[in-house]
Amino acid sequence: MPSQKPAPVKTALVIGGGLVGTACAINLQARGIGTRIVDPVSVRRAASWGNAGHIAVEQVEPLASFATIRSLPNRLFSRGGALGLPPRDIAAWLPFSLRLIAASRPGRFAAGKGALGGALAAATDAWRRLLGSAPGSHLLLEQGHFVVWESARTAAAGRAAWEKTDTGTARFRDASPEEMSMLRGLMGRPPAGAIRFLGTSQIADLGMLAEALDSMLVRLGGAQHCASAAQLRLAEGEASVSLDTGETLHADAVVVAAGVGSGRLLEPLGYTVPIIAERGYHLQTAETSWPMDLPPVVFEDRSMIATRFRSGLRVASFVEFSRSESPPDLRKWQRLRRHVEALGLSFGEPVAEWIGARPTLPDYLPAIGASRRARNLFYAFGHQHLGLTLAAVTGEAVAALVAGDEPPIEVAAFDLERFQRKQR
Ligand SMILES: Cc1cc2nc3c(=O)[nH]c(=O)nc-3n(C[C@H](O)[C@H](O)[C@H](O)COP(=O)(O)OP(=O)(O)OC[C@H]3O[C@@H](n4cnc5c(N)ncnc54)[C@H](O)[C@@H]3O)c2cc1C
Repeated sequence: MPSQKPAPVKTALVIGGGLVGTACAINLQARGIGTRIVDPVSVRRAASWGNAGHIAVEQVEPLASFATIRSLPNRLFSRGGALGLPPRDIAAWLPFSLRLIAASRPGRFAAGKGALGGALAAATDAWRRLLGSAPGSHLLLEQGHFVVWESARTAAAGRAAWEKTDTGTARFRDASPEEMSMLRGLMGRPPAGAIRFLGTSQIADLGMLAEALDSMLVRLGGAQHCASAAQLRLAEGEASVSLDTGETLHADAVVVAAGVGSGRLLEPLGYTVPIIAERGYHLQTAETSWPMDLPPVVFEDRSMIATRFRSGLRVASFVEFSRSESPPDLRKWQRLRRHVEALGLSFGEPVAEWIGARPTLPDYLPAIGASRRARNLFYAFGHQHLGLTLAAVTGEAVAALVAGDEPPIEVAAFDLERFQRKQR
């Protein structure tokens, strides 16, 4: 008997209008699949819009590693570092940490590095394609970034650590004398050491990116539906989406791209989704003298990145293993202010404070794939520190999976089944 060809996919719903969901929706719609994004939020507060804007293709080594585990005690917030393990959220971070330790074993780390490296190597090209058409083309700034140290000891240790690190398609060199003098001007004193990465990029402004992507989706014929997905329902092997409005939506393809909220949607289908809200904080001011064309600067001794966006200067830091709904830790914004003062950065008032959650899985790999529990269900979440970097290539991969084509990157390592196998 001839094998039956699956019916062509004509409609899609994407749950979550962050960067990952939006990139999925644009790529689906560009294939002629009528796509709607479902997201309750019209004012964008998610991590997609509060991040540091860095296309971090150098971060090939998954953070689930023995090197990370060894460094944890010195990184604790209480010791001046960026790591927060709030006691009130121990029920969230303790099981996550145990899984992270298991995922750090050398074999899993090496496999994860291969998979992540493949996705990161394709990330910039995918952004070029996504933003290739006006009006977005000017938003991808391919000018690398700086890493700066404040003491001779940390400069020597930091440079040596980067020399031992696999940075994928990105390279670095010592900052030139002109660059050192420019950095000195930004900091009010000379840095003890600095390197410049090449092959990394920046998004010029995340607000402008949101507008460009929105108009791209609408121009292609896609739409947005302002509602929250309350539940995924499974009937006869097909998923449908119940909204908080009481309405139920059906489509040929349903893509879960709801960041940290993805676990809550998938767990009732029997999935184990060990996702955590890895929260970060930022401050932003429009009042700065930093030149518009300055690439991001990482102040590594303070685990802080400063990014000159079109709309102002943003400083971001902290990894707080927590729950999305826990109240913010006000001390973290105070710490950021102290960093800004100590470094002498040009950072005027008023200052906007922001907190948001990276959607992180314990092996620091995303979940990208086709569900085996419903024939029309797909997922794309868990992009941890790399959601901006990987959004465009994830969108291409998901659209290919939905259409039944070969994805442009190898996604086997990102299959959500990896956490189900662990249970047996
Ligand atoms: C301080 C900080 C700095 C960062 N810097 C960088 C960086 O420089 N480079 C980089 O690559 N990455 C960076 N990241 C990480 C990056 O921001 C995230 O990985 C990325 O935003 C994840 O995107 P997302 O679309 O998966 O999730 P989100 O941005 O969290 O978006 C999820 C969306 O889903 C919606 N949603 C949730 N639940 C539901 C539901 N039930 N129904 C409908 N919609 C729902 C939400 O409203 C939201 O709009 C940073 C993160 C932080 C916190």
